[in-house]
Amino acid sequence: MIHINENFLKLRAGYLFPEIGRRVRTFKEQNPSAKVISMGIGDVTQPLAPAVIEAMHRAVDEMGRPETFKGYDDGGVGYEFLRKAIVENDYKARGADVDIDEVFVSDGAKPDTGNMQEVFGVDNVVAVADPVYPVYVDTNVMAGRTGQANEIGQYEGVVYMPATAENGFVPEPPSRPADMIYLCFPNNPTGSVATKEQLAAWVAYARENQAVILFDAAYEAFISDPEIPHSIYEIEGARDVAIEFRSFSKTAGFTGVRCAYTIVPKSLKAYKKDGQTVEINPIWKRRHCTKFNGVSYVTQAGAAAVYTPQGREQIARTIDVYMTNARVIRERLTELGYQVYGGVNAPYIWLKTPDGLGSWAFFDRLLNEAHVVGTPGVGFGPAGEGYFRLTAFGTLANVKEALDRIAAL
Ligand SMILES: *Cc1c(COP(=O)(O)O)cnc(C)c1O
Repeated sequence: MIHINENFLKLRAGYLFPEIGRRVRTFKEQNPSAKVISMGIGDVTQPLAPAVIEAMHRAVDEMGRPETFKGYDDGGVGYEFLRKAIVENDYKARGADVDIDEVFVSDGAKPDTGNMQEVFGVDNVVAVADPVYPVYVDTNVMAGRTGQANEIGQYEGVVYMPATAENGFVPEPPSRPADMIYLCFPNNPTGSVATKEQLAAWVAYARENQAVILFDAAYEAFISDPEIPHSIYEIEGARDVAIEFRSFSKTAGFTGVRCAYTIVPKSLKAYKKDGQTVEINPIWKRRHCTKFNGVSYVTQAGAAAVYTPQGREQIARTIDVYMTNARVIRERLTELGYQVYGGVNAPYIWLKTPDGLGSWAFFDRLLNEAHVVGTPGVGFGPAGEGYFRLTAFGTLANVKEALDRIAAL
């Protein structure tokens, strides 16, 4: 008899986006002439940079000639030309020490943040922020690292760390010990960033508790404040306790192309039951090369073009488009008396719902009266109740029209 992995049955149904879709469809059926503007999109909309497109075209041509054809990327960890560009530009240039053998190129930060837990024991305690990007939690549920969910959707055994207006949406280390700590800065959904001091407190906690920090820096490219660290490895001692996830998805519009990378430092160790230390880098390499066979050459050639002078300039312009939207959203909403957070170092604006409305009540008001769609904060966790997420990934014209309608509410 074939048994199911019953951990999967603990998962709460993916409720947030289907429910949003259902309410929007119902509204459109009843109001066929309404022009609905979405500010809930968590996906980029601007096309790839010309430098990336040119590099991909050249790579396609190379694949068509016997002398330049490429088969498997040796071991699947990524071509040296890309890993070298990553080390030089994303780390060395910021004074962070990362070696080429510590870079693992992959098809996404979502798979990497989801898969990394496999190398750690199932009895580890997981800590996440509330609200949270759901991948960190759900993949640990699947692995059997949690109990059942309660009525507010929190799983038994997981340490939830509320991110609130009081702590600037940057949770402090918990009072109880945790072993696997997921942090995401700049943050989705709150748009918050962590300072050097705040990250240093986390590194100190991880060192003290012999824990690992799983640091998701997918939105690093949106940081505008020169004081904010882009990498956890800008913090002293982080190489011994942190793994970092990066992605070309939001940085360079690769959500449909698929390329990302993960840094696993050679000095990072976990422990056996008898207290003996084990290096994580060779274990992750073994896992990565067993279950994954590399990102396509054409894609890696496109990703490397992100680091050329033209690529960098073109990508900065695209990020400017989104961050102009973010600024307009922030400024208009502030003028209108809303309490807004984020939107300075991240493409997300996190707002306090007005009049004490719940997240879903505000969603319905915005949809029915302004024909604007956003994302209810409570969908990312109970501490998100009374908050609402708007994204800056639309067009400026739509953003302006949406804000005019919100002003008229
Ligand atoms: C979009 C996003 C990613 C990127 O995932 P990819 O699989 O690389 O496209 C990672 N983490 C967070 C929090 C995100 O919002």
